Amino acid sequence: MRHAFGEKELKSKLFGTSGVRGLVNVDLTPILVAKIGLAVVTFSKAKRVFAARDTRVSGLMLENALVSGLLSGGADVNCLGVVPTPVLAYLTKKLKADAGVMITASHNPPQYNGIKIFGKDSLAYGDESQDEVEKIIENESFRREDWRNVGEAFHIDESHLYVEMIRKTAKLHKKWYVIVDSGCGATYNLAPVIFERLGCKVTAINSQPDGFFPARSPEPNAESLKPLAKIVKELDTDVGIAYDGDGDRAAFIDEKGNFVDFDRVLAAYAAHVVKKSGGGTVVTNVEASMCVEKMVEAHGGKVVRTKVGDVYVAEAIKRRNAVFGGEPCGAWIHPQFHYCPDGILSSVMLLKALEDEEKSLSEFIAETPQYQILRENIACKNEIKYKVVEKVGEGLKTVFPAYKEYSTVDGVRLVLRNGWILVRASGTEPLVRLTAEGESLKAAREILEKGVALVKKLVGEMEK
Ligand code: MG
Repeated sequence: MRHAFGEKELKSKLFGTSGVRGLVNVDLTPILVAKIGLAVVTFSKAKRVFAARDTRVSGLMLENALVSGLLSGGADVNCLGVVPTPVLAYLTKKLKADAGVMITASHNPPQYNGIKIFGKDSLAYGDESQDEVEKIIENESFRREDWRNVGEAFHIDESHLYVEMIRKTAKLHKKWYVIVDSGCGATYNLAPVIFERLGCKVTAINSQPDGFFPARSPEPNAESLKPLAKIVKELDTDVGIAYDGDGDRAAFIDEKGNFVDFDRVLAAYAAHVVKKSGGGTVVTNVEASMCVEKMVEAHGGKVVRTKVGDVYVAEAIKRRNAVFGGEPCGAWIHPQFHYCPDGILSSVMLLKALEDEEKSLSEFIAETPQYQILRENIACKNEIKYKVVEKVGEGLKTVFPAYKEYSTVDGVRLVLRNGWILVRASGTEPLVRLTAEGESLKAAREILEKGVALVKKLVGEMEK
């Protein structure tokens, strides 16, 4: 069931916004994965499917199950082995496979794994396609092939095509000193190789594939990248680059050893793309900072906001022919290449932008304003949380009569003169989530407090 006024109900559904995720051998068993493989072929009628995995311990077990399901539906399968998710997506498009299936739980802890499916244009399956696949599994309406026609599986290694694509795109002239931190994830091999090919001086850390993720969390953030920041400072390098477990996200440490704010670097890079393209549309989600609008509009571009989830951003990029898009977790999409967020490509493109603008990373984001985002969750029974969010819109308009924009693309979002507020129902917990951003901390607090008071009042009234 999908709600217009909140996140998706993840618990009752097999597929969430990013495909299937679950605890290995508890939620996500080989039997389920084989069924997903068979259902994907039943749905897509694919003749040739690419399969790949990240470095998780359960990767090979689930890949074997996936391949079984795909073969049983009659598709031939090319196994790419351990590669980043965007490499699978790119090769699916480049080599004209009918679908690509990635076994990964992205940035989740090691005991999780998951499945993400891509169509032939490199766009991840959205809600409609995922629902169709899920229906086939639920109803067991699989199309199994006659024994004579089951598929064949073999390994291929075509990641050199991805390396070539990047090498042709981004010629770097400066010898950048780069520390690459793959976190023992899927970029362990390709990321250092690519920066070396581009003429950079590279120090690779955590670049042994290890599904226990012993070095750091597979989610790159200010906390998990503290050791990387320290190394950048000590070795006095130009930049530190880190990826998540499957390499669709990148995070950065600047030349001074500071973690680079996700929203600000997204905004600064988006502005750079708009400047170079002479305008254009940039897509981001409802939670990103308004510094994205500030920077993009200042350079003649326009910002479109979607629901939270990289597939929604990718779909909007395609639909609106946008020049760039991304989410403030480091998932950036470069539509001139493919529609999957791509950590390695993003980090290369960022270095290229720094070169073009003759700036260090800290200088590159210096122009982008730093606003304040505050969050608060309000307890609210599951039965009424969506109704509360549905009702909150009219109330917010009354509380903020001078609002500039009203949107229900994901929950309810009001753009104000000096900030914005977003109210969403949690998809998994009995909570209503509020996010507010202000030009100053004081402004953010005022906006949030007014929103919180309103939501509490509504919850109180409806729980009676
Ligand atoms: Mg990821």
